[in-house]
Amino acid sequence: VRFADLGLAPEILRALTDQGYEHPTPIQAKAIPLVLQGRDVMGAAQTGTGKTAGFSLPIIQLLMAHANSSMSPARHPVRALVLTPTRELAVQVADNVAAYAKRTPLRSTVVFGGMDMKGQTTILKGGVEIVIATPGRLLDHVEQKNVNLSQVQMLVMDEADRMLDMGFLPDLQRIINLLPKQRQNLMFSATFSPEIKKLANSFLNNPVLIEV
Ligand code: AMP
Repeated sequence: VRFADLGLAPEILRALTDQGYEHPTPIQAKAIPLVLQGRDVMGAAQTGTGKTAGFSLPIIQLLMAHANSSMSPARHPVRALVLTPTRELAVQVADNVAAYAKRTPLRSTVVFGGMDMKGQTTILKGGVEIVIATPGRLLDHVEQKNVNLSQVQMLVMDEADRMLDMGFLPDLQRIINLLPKQRQNLMFSATFSPEIKKLANSFLNNPVLIEV
């Protein structure tokens, strides 16, 4: 399989060439077509498998249909939200998303706790299509009305098992209540415990299970 066979736009394929990626990893080959079809996906995958590109690339592809180069913040509502357990993972995912989307008009940013709110607020208010966030800090920004989640079409819960271990379930529930009911959901977890299955059953809609 080649990336070009997976239905990705030339802007994305060029970015992958720039990254030096030649072939999709197994999880990418499985996840990318399913996400492009609009399916909910539960991915049982460890870090190092290429799961980040597995969800980021099709999200960028799907959002490109609505992307525009207008400067107006109103023309750049948040359409995809990626939740991660830690700031380190949030930064890593955000760096990947920025690299994959660099040839598109899509804007992305990262928000996490422990960093001052001001810089994050300016970027959020400027309009970004893709937000990568740790749950608590995202809710702080919601409370301060720095970000509006009413147009989110795609939700990713990355390292969902770690988010549960860290006690983020109430925050996840609060965030999901702020999102439109009609949306695509992707969940990734290294382990596939009964708790994760329960979370998947409550947050995902008829998901396809991918294991690598
Ligand atoms: P992840 O599992 O998403 O944390 O990715 C693990 C590492 O593999 C990261 O450093 C990625 O940049 C890299 N990577 C992801 N997909 C590919 C690919 N198709 N070809 C080569 N490297 C990749």
